[in-house]
Amino acid sequence: MCRSCATAAEPTEIPADLERPDHGLSRRGLLAGLGLGVLAVNLSVGTSTAAAATAKNGAWADPALGRFPAGGHYGAPRGGASHAGQDVSNSVGTAVYAAAGGTVVRRSWGGGLPGRTGNALVISHGNNQYTYYGHLNAYRVGLNAKVSAGQRIADMGATGNVTGPHLHFETHSGRLGTTVNPVSFLAARGVDLSGGWSRTDPGASGATVVVIQHLMSRRGHGLAADGQYGSVSVEAVKRFQRSKGLVADGQVGPATWPALVYTLRQGASGSHVRALQAALNKRSARLAVDGGFGSVTTGAVRDYQSVNRLVADGEAGPVTWRALTG
Ligand SMILES: [Zn+2]
Repeated sequence: MCRSCATAAEPTEIPADLERPDHGLSRRGLLAGLGLGVLAVNLSVGTSTAAAATAKNGAWADPALGRFPAGGHYGAPRGGASHAGQDVSNSVGTAVYAAAGGTVVRRSWGGGLPGRTGNALVISHGNNQYTYYGHLNAYRVGLNAKVSAGQRIADMGATGNVTGPHLHFETHSGRLGTTVNPVSFLAARGVDLSGGWSRTDPGASGATVVVIQHLMSRRGHGLAADGQYGSVSVEAVKRFQRSKGLVADGQVGPATWPALVYTLRQGASGSHVRALQAALNKRSARLAVDGGFGSVTTGAVRDYQSVNRLVADGEAGPVTWRALTG
């Protein structure tokens, strides 16, 4: 884990252009661009409960698979300061993904932030939210690159002041330099940083919703794969949940996902394979979503498993699905 990665005692000097990376865009436009239009409406009427619920909107993704090392939690003591992120340990070369769509605003040693060491990326997600990825072995995106949620951006490493390879992951809210607990930040957005199943609520949109819709079609609830988790899709999921004896709340989470996914291998064909291909594409696979599980899809599954340190058998079972949709 990190030896340092402390929170700065002094406020960070941030260049004006980095403090306002969204210059020229309205707040409404930024929220819409992130698929947060519904959240904005709920915030404006002050319904914090509804806002928290609609925050599980499919816009966020698990940045890396691994384990939480002892002492690697947010706020852990670091020589008089506190640990500014959550460490996720795995081997050098493990894939690191963008936690949400945005723009790469830093690609440098420590991200130019005090107390940080090693190769680092900072992504601005708009709405004054940032994520930081530290101790990277290799960059897979350039400075100023536009990235999507789940896109591979780097390889895990051990650069900087560390005891072993891991991702040092930070979430900043309000301004760059103001960290919040990444575990609770992501949990509020439907992502389990410790690697559990994600949660997607009614009103969500994006690639994971497409995955859900394809799976639902295979389950006999024909849905248009439009990526919008609107009332037609939600009612279908509630019917599916009732049919499985689950709580019919419309949230696709740890109870519903295992009932929804299929174990798939080469030779399979249909909407469940489209779901798998769409899930792989969210993680930078670039497959044709044709519903045919041939050698190309097998290779993509194996590659995904390999770079995430899963058993690389080319078969999509529950562990692979949980990681892909996390
Ligand atoms: Zn750390």
